[in-house]
Amino acid sequence: MLPIPLHKTFTYSVTEAEANFLEKGMRVAVSFGKTKMYTALVVEIHTTAPTLYEAKDIHQILDEKPIVNEQQLKHWQWISNYYMCPLGDVFRAALPSAFLLESETIIYKNEAFTDESILTDTEFLIFEALQHQSQLTIHQVVDILDKKKVMPIINELIKKSAIYIKEEIYEVYKPKLIKYVRMHPNYSNDADLENLLNELSRAKKQRDAVLSFFQLSSSKKPIKAKDLETNANVSASILKALVDKNIFEFYHLKTDRINYKGDTNSLKELNEFQQKALEEIETSFQEKDVVLLHGITSSGKTEVYTKLIQNVLDSGKQVLFLLPEIALTTQIITRLQHYFGNQISVFHSKYSMNERVEVWNNVLENKPKAQIILGARSSVFLPFNNLGLIVVDEEHETSYKQFEPSPRYNARDSAIVLANIHKGKILLGSATPALESYFNATQNKYGLVELNRRFGNVQLPKIELIDIKDKHKKKLMKGHFSDRMLQLITEALEQKEQVILFQNRRGFSPVVECNTCGNSPQCPNCDVSLTYHKYRNELRCHYCHYQRAMPNSCGACGSNTLDTKGFGTEQIELELKELFPDNSIGRMDLDTTRGKFGYQKIIGAFEAHEIDILVGTQMLSKGLDFENVSLVGILNADSMLNFPDFRAHERAYQLMVQVSGRAGRSKKQGNVAIQTFNPHHQILQQVSTTNYAEMYKEQLNDRWQYHYPPYYRLIKITLKHKDFIRVDNGINWLFKSLQNVFGEHVLGPTAPAVARVRNQYIKNLVIKIPPKQSLAKTKEQIAKIKNTFEAVKDFRPIRFILDVDAY
Ligand code: ADP
Ligand code: ZN
Ligand code: ZN
Repeated sequence: MLPIPLHKTFTYSVTEAEANFLEKGMRVAVSFGKTKMYTALVVEIHTTAPTLYEAKDIHQILDEKPIVNEQQLKHWQWISNYYMCPLGDVFRAALPSAFLLESETIIYKNEAFTDESILTDTEFLIFEALQHQSQLTIHQVVDILDKKKVMPIINELIKKSAIYIKEEIYEVYKPKLIKYVRMHPNYSNDADLENLLNELSRAKKQRDAVLSFFQLSSSKKPIKAKDLETNANVSASILKALVDKNIFEFYHLKTDRINYKGDTNSLKELNEFQQKALEEIETSFQEKDVVLLHGITSSGKTEVYTKLIQNVLDSGKQVLFLLPEIALTTQIITRLQHYFGNQISVFHSKYSMNERVEVWNNVLENKPKAQIILGARSSVFLPFNNLGLIVVDEEHETSYKQFEPSPRYNARDSAIVLANIHKGKILLGSATPALESYFNATQNKYGLVELNRRFGNVQLPKIELIDIKDKHKKKLMKGHFSDRMLQLITEALEQKEQVILFQNRRGFSPVVECNTCGNSPQCPNCDVSLTYHKYRNELRCHYCHYQRAMPNSCGACGSNTLDTKGFGTEQIELELKELFPDNSIGRMDLDTTRGKFGYQKIIGAFEAHEIDILVGTQMLSKGLDFENVSLVGILNADSMLNFPDFRAHERAYQLMVQVSGRAGRSKKQGNVAIQTFNPHHQILQQVSTTNYAEMYKEQLNDRWQYHYPPYYRLIKITLKHKDFIRVDNGINWLFKSLQNVFGEHVLGPTAPAVARVRNQYIKNLVIKIPPKQSLAKTKEQIAKIKNTFEAVKDFRPIRFILDVDAY
């Protein structure tokens, strides 16, 4: 199996000795095509020579034992079939990139080259790109020039000495090493030591270090260089000097990176409602493999999970705890470590390559510290061998679905299959279950357990709808705040309580518009207006990261009447700073949470009450637990409701109920204030009474009527290309071919709200699959049409994206 977008596997030849050594799941280095070298995975060892090509020899065997197991291969195969994506894509997504070394030609700029005038325009493009980036891969060059045959251009650049290239194979995993100190063998007897201390009588610091060393060595454990420095109160250079004098020696031991140092506590005692839920889950598991726990916000679902986890650990099996967002891991990891200490490993994309390799190996070897894996989406790919339980927390979250790149899998649904492969159980938890999940539960496909009390019997927050149309009319708005919202904030702050304000847009304002001519600055690469970010006085595109300085005058008519419309988190933060100068204001959105510890810093500061008011985007809605928040404000509910998507209302409900759930979690009932132009909207009414049942019923009705999930399944086809006409021709051809087979169940073609991104035009089609129609057969037919499409020369350059169960 090769990590390239192909369904097929390939046969390579090995010697008999190699064949005897090799096992399924080991990696081998192979060449493919003319120049490429890849890491491939052995999936079968056989003696049938391929008929269509000659089997090449492998380069070398990379593993001593398998790093991928049977269950994984089965799971990947399912993902590939179900989501209609090449197995090679799943393979690439599954392994930490450090496991997939390949020869990639990397080009560098020649710093000595100055005569830019001898370069052609195309050559200059690449040279220029290298001034912003220290290196480029061939792939990136292909992207920049938007053409495939780039080798001649690169050759020319090399000939002109503008660049140089390096064929590089990167072997990557470096275990973290810890430095230890021991005595040099010269000093093996007491007499030598006596002499040594005398010799050092004038080098006081060095003498201290040696004396400390003896003190520490009485414990008979290896002595870390760092510990010795602290204990002797000397610097690293003192130890280094002693090593240079052949008195000490350094040596290194491998250690795993993720270590928990604190003590562990026993699990909390469940209250009667939690206890009952736990028992119901366990009973339900006797018959069903999947159970949905519908527990209101702050009902203590996490504590129920921990009991289940403990039971599974006791039976000697592994546990996977899935979270939708890395933002959440910082709190949950602390809570779980409290109970399970060093039995937990964390796995997600903000971890370095090395850290991910380490977790992979620990899971593979079923190490004590990999008994519980806490992770985002991609942790469903880990080499579990004995998975007893999967918990999918906040199972309704749409971020469980990967949408770019392929494989476009839903981690929740893939986890259900994974649990099944391991004959384990899976618990889906949420205060606002996805309609699909709740539907499956009511159809008896999943077990259903309800938990309707907040822990400590705190009432759900009081939710108040504020009609800002009326407030505007009566001139009771200050910036984006109604008088009532300000009053509630002031009251909370007076009580020394904290406030969360939700605004689902980042930046300062999403639209800049000229008051004279109505023109608004657009992204040159995408069909979208630029968002104003005040802090940098910049306009930015949220689709392609294009940015430029905010102009002083209108680009169309030249008048200096540019005005900002709409508002984002940044603007709210600034308004708050003026309204509440004595309080500290924090902001949590994509712009403030970059870097591995971005979230942790803000969440930590809020937990420590260093921030009084936290403004943020939907990141704030995801299961965070703060004890002192008494007020949650939603500044503009309408933008969520007026979204052209069949899931918009469901999502708006989930989002608002989840953010509201951050209020009043520990002591007393909290408050929620929702500003809207449309207080009679049925979803807002349902949010204000937390009436999930009614929302469910109403939405389900719509879905039935308009043929959407959970009744119908959806497969979305997207075409992308920089030439509009070509995409248009392609989509029309495709529409007709699909319509021939599926008739009225093909919708489209449509252009998405942002119809051009990064200079690529986008068109969509949706195929609806009625409940009784065979899914497998439908996919077969679609695949056939796709093949024909790709055989048309004119269509071949178009990017063809298939998204099964699209969101
Ligand atoms: P949920 O995940 O359902 O929103 P949490 O599990 O975060 O709720 O629980 C809410 C709060 O109540 C947390 O601070 C948690 O520590 C506390 N809590 C829940 N159950 C218990 C219990 N049985 N004993 C003590 N504290 C609990
Ligand atoms: Zn203008
Ligand atoms: Zn853009």
